[in-house]
Amino acid sequence: MKIIMLGAPGAGKGTQAKKIAAKYDIPHISTGDIFRANIKNGTELGKKAKTFMDQGLLVPDELVVDLVVDRVNQEDCSKGYVLDGFPRTIPQAEALDAALAKMNQKMDYAINVEVPDENIVQRMSGRRACVDCGTTYHIVYAPTKQEGICDNCGGNLILRDDDKPETVQKRLGVYHDQTQPLIEYYTDKNILVEVDGTIDINDVFAEIVKVLGE
Ligand code: ADP
Ligand code: AMP
Repeated sequence: MKIIMLGAPGAGKGTQAKKIAAKYDIPHISTGDIFRANIKNGTELGKKAKTFMDQGLLVPDELVVDLVVDRVNQEDCSKGYVLDGFPRTIPQAEALDAALAKMNQKMDYAINVEVPDENIVQRMSGRRACVDCGTTYHIVYAPTKQEGICDNCGGNLILRDDDKPETVQKRLGVYHDQTQPLIEYYTDKNILVEVDGTIDINDVFAEIVKVLGE
């Protein structure tokens, strides 16, 4: 099962992608996580990506596409995968489709998690991420057992630099300009699934499972 998560920054793509990956036993591939790991490790890719990410801009397509195509060609992706944060532009989607077509494959679902802009800034300002393992929480909607400490690995939680309100506004603008057109792209391919992302995390997941199957 090959799945794409679509939605504004903070809509809950990562939250749902992790649950999908666990239930269906497929890898969760987050380009944002890949970039953040590269930044943490001080790689050349990380240095390049950081200049764009800090400004709330997209990393250029050429730095993202090969990375994802290489990743989905790895052995652990043979039964499928869930892409979170990719594609984010029409050229990325076209490059992905072209790479899959070469292997006689295609995506199965593009799940659009819908959350209005009004809710997004509140979501993002409450999001906390673990500096060590990247697990994401929310101070109100998905709190940790102990404040500031990751339930998963005991690491410290931080507010991502790009989750500060000024950067979130910029990212929302970029989303509407460059990523939202993918909704039409995947509607035309008959694989778009719309879910309401404003309801409780587990209820959103239940809606997704209704579509993907038990
Ligand atoms: P994305 O991957 O789309 O950027 P996340 O999955 O990181 O978004 O979610 C953004 C924030 O909102 C996180 O702090 C997360 O815990 C919280 N969140 C996710 N889904 C919901 C939901 N259905 N209701 C309330 N908060 C949510
Ligand atoms: P995310 O964790 O998905 O919110 O991504 C954080 C940031 O990483 C984005 O704001 C972009 O700067 C960058 N990024 C992640 N995925 C992509 C992508 N597919 N294309 C371009 N930039 C990306």
